[in-house]
This record gives sequence, structure tokens and C-alpha cells, in this order.
Amino acid sequence: MRIILLGPPGAGKGTVANQLKATDGSVHISTGDILRNNVKAGTDLGKKAKEYMDKGELVPDQLIMDMMEVRLQEADCAKGFMLDGFPRTIPQADALGKLLEKINIKLDAAINLDIPREVVLDRLTTRRTCNNSACQTIYNVKTNPPKVEGKCDKCGSPVIQRSDETEEAILNRLEVYNKQTAPLIEYYANKGMLKSASKLKLDELVQEVLNKLKN
Ligand code: ADP
Ligand code: ZN
Repeated sequence: MRIILLGPPGAGKGTVANQLKATDGSVHISTGDILRNNVKAGTDLGKKAKEYMDKGELVPDQLIMDMMEVRLQEADCAKGFMLDGFPRTIPQADALGKLLEKINIKLDAAINLDIPREVVLDRLTTRRTCNNSACQTIYNVKTNPPKVEGKCDKCGSPVIQRSDETEEAILNRLEVYNKQTAPLIEYYANKGMLKSASKLKLDELVQEVLNKLKN
């Protein structure tokens, strides 16, 4: 499949992508993960991106497009891909459209995970992430804590709160989402590409997305 996952931070884009990956081998491409890996590795891109990310602001479109132009042409994308956290602005969506045309690829759909603000706000403030970049398993202090506090069940690395998951940065990310990313819902609806899913339980949400993709 070749899809875009839309929805506010905390809607479950990463979890849905991870589960869908098992169904047909499409790669999960999360711009947030790629950026965090660059920050950790201290690359030029990481140095430029970090100041925006820590405030919950968007990284400039051009940096994202340079990064994605390379990523979308890597060999593993041939089987299909799920874009998580990208595009995030109308200019990114326009640039993605041009890029895909150039490399002769057509998207199947844009899937909007339509989850209410109070739900995602609660999820984000209680979310914790495995610090190991190869793992990045997501936990929740209320609903899904690691078996040993602060330690990843899968790899034993520290489980941390992301630096952009302070309350202030979270509120800012939601505002940035409403202003800059939510307009993409109408953008893809106008292209006849939009599908929507809204289940609150993650396993039901994954099923709902799969059903929508079949129709
Ligand atoms: P979220 O949980 O907010 O969806 P992500 O992991 O997708 O978080 O992104 C974290 C941060 O990385 C964003 O707040 C933003 O600073 C930056 N980022 C990720 N993807 C993009 C993008 N497509 N354009 C601009 N900035 C991005
Ligand atoms: Zn881990």
C-alpha cells in the first residue's frame, strides 16, 4: 500500500503503521523518527531541526523535502510505504505530489485518524518512549506501563518522556497541528483521496483502517 496517515499528534499514526506493516511489508516512514535519529547522531540536519522540535514547531519545509526526496527513493519503498507525520503543511503536500509524479508513483489514499483533542492530550502527557532508536516502543504510564518501571520490555533500554512531550510543547504541537496540518484533510478530500477512521481503541482503529482501505 501507499498511504498517508493524517491525524493529530497522539492519534495513533505510529501504532497503526506498525501493525499495518505486518499485513503487506510496506515500510513505515515517520519523519519524526528520522529527525530524532538525526538529532541523536548529531548530523547537520539534526542540528538544524532540534531547535524547532523542542519547541513543538515545524521543521522548515525545504529540509523535510530534501530528506524525503532521498527516503522515498530508497529500495525498501518499492513494496509500498506508509507516511506518518508527512506531509504536514500544504506546501509539503504540493511538493510531495510533484515528487511522486516525477518518480511515477501513485498514492492509494490519505487516512485521517479522527481522534478528539481531549483524548490525544491525555495520551500525549502520559506517553513514554523507549530511548533506543532501533526500538522506540511506545508505552503509557496509565494504560500500558513497562513491566519494570523506566525499562523497555523489549530491549531493556531506558523508557523516557520525549523532550517535546512537556505540557507546554504538547499544547503547542496541537495548535501547530490545527493551524498547519489539519487543512490537509480538506486538501486530500478535494482530491477524492480521503478516508477516515475514528475508533479510540488502537486494535479497533487498525481494523477500521484496514476495512476502509479495502473499499
Ligand atoms: P507527533 O507526535 O507530533 O506526530 P512526530 O514524531 O511526528 O510527532 O514529530 C515530532 C516533531 O518533528 C514535530 O513536532 C516537528 O518539529 C518535527 N517534524 C516531524 N515531521 C515533520 C514534517 N513533516 N514537517 C515539519 N516538521 C516535522
Ligand atoms: Zn526498547
